[in-house]
Amino acid sequence: MNLFEYQGKKLYKQYDIPTPTSIFIRSQSELANQESLLFPVVVKAQVQVGGRGKAGGIKLVSSHDELKTAVNEILGMDIKGHRVESLLIEEASTIIKEYYISFTLDRSVKKYLMLLSAKGGMDIEEVAEKNPEDLIKIYISPSEGLTEETIINAIKDANLDPEFTNEIKNIILKLYNLFVAGDCDLVEVNPLAITNNGVLALDSKITLDMNAEYRHEEFNEFEADIPIPDSEAFAKSKGLNFIKLDGSVGIIGNGAGLVMSTLDVVSEHGGKAANFLDIGGGAKAETVTAALEVLESDSNVKSVLINIFGGITRCDLVAEGIVEATKGKFLKWPIIVRLDGTNSKEGLKILSQFKNEKIIISESMDEAAKLAVKESQ
Ligand code: GDP
Ligand code: MN
Repeated sequence: MNLFEYQGKKLYKQYDIPTPTSIFIRSQSELANQESLLFPVVVKAQVQVGGRGKAGGIKLVSSHDELKTAVNEILGMDIKGHRVESLLIEEASTIIKEYYISFTLDRSVKKYLMLLSAKGGMDIEEVAEKNPEDLIKIYISPSEGLTEETIINAIKDANLDPEFTNEIKNIILKLYNLFVAGDCDLVEVNPLAITNNGVLALDSKITLDMNAEYRHEEFNEFEADIPIPDSEAFAKSKGLNFIKLDGSVGIIGNGAGLVMSTLDVVSEHGGKAANFLDIGGGAKAETVTAALEVLESDSNVKSVLINIFGGITRCDLVAEGIVEATKGKFLKWPIIVRLDGTNSKEGLKILSQFKNEKIIISESMDEAAKLAVKESQ
C-alpha cells in the first residue's frame, strides 16, 4: 500500500527522522484555528504522483493572505488525473543541497538495496539513466544489517558534503530502522536536504508491505485514509481483482500471471495499460460482463485487450460473456480478443457468428497486444 506524503511523515516522526514542522488540512476552514506555524511555509498537494512542484501543486508563501490564496488554488486542483483533497503545510527551510536516498527490496539477490545520490530533488530514473555513476548502490544482507562503516563509505562515494557525514549517517540508520521494523517495501526520501535548519527529510514516498498488516495497527489507520478510485470500489463489489493504472489499454485476463505478462507485452509494444484485471479461473459469462462494465467506467480506456488462456476457464463461456455484455450496445472502443485453451474453437465460433465489427479476434497474445496498442493511440 502506497502512503501519502503526510502519512509517511507521521512515520518519520515516530522513528525520530528529522522533518519540518507541519499541519495537515482537508479544507480552507481548518486553517482558521491554526496560528502556530512560522512563515514562510510550503503548501504541498497531497496526491500520490511525482512532479507535484512542476504541476503547480507546491507553493512557497510568506504571509497569511498568501497562504489562504495558495490553499484555495491547490485544493481541488487536478494533478495528472489525481484530485487534490488535502494539503500538508510545512515550515519552509532554505535549501542548500538536495540529496536522494531510498531503501527497497531486490528480490533477485534476496537483499535490501540502498540507493544514495548527491543528485536529489529531481527524477531519480533520469539520474540512473544519464549519470549512473552518481547513483551509489549498496546491497544489504537482511541478516547482517547495515553498519555505520558501510554508510560512511557510501556517503563518501556519493560525494555528499563531508561536513554533514555524521548527521546524515544517523538519519540513514533511522531510515533503515523504519524500513525494516516498519515493514516497508519502499522508503524513499527525495530530497533529503541540507538546510539552514540542519538536514531534513523534505519528501516522503513509502510503500507498506501489507503482508505484515497483522503486526501494525497503524496500517489500518493509514488504509482508512486512502480513498480508492470509484472503478476499484465497483470492481470490488463485483468480486473482481482489479487495480487501476494510468494508461489507455484496458486489460482483461484470467490468472494473475497471465495478466501480468499481458501488461508486459503491451508495454513492449509501446503501450500503457489502463488497469490490471484478473477474472480468475472458471470465469463465467456474468464475470466477463462485469469486467467490461468496470472498464467502461474508466474514461482513459481507448481499447480493450481480452487475453484468455482456458484451463478451468472455458473459452466458450468467456465468448458468451463478451456477446452478452456488448449485444445491442454502442461500444466506445474496439475489443481485441485472444482465446486459447479449453473450448477455444467453440469460443471463437461464437464470436465470429456474433459479427460485431468492434470485436477483433487475434491469433496470438503478441499480435493482440500490438493491435490493442495501435488502437489505443
Ligand atoms: P515532488 O516534486 O512531488 O517530488 O515534491 P517534493 O516534496 O520533493 O518537493 C519538490 C521541490 O520543492 C523540492 O525538491 C524543493 O526544491 C521544493 N521544496 C520542498 N519543500 C521545501 C521547503 O521547505 N523549502 C523550500 N525552499 N523548497 C522546498
Ligand atoms: Mn520529491
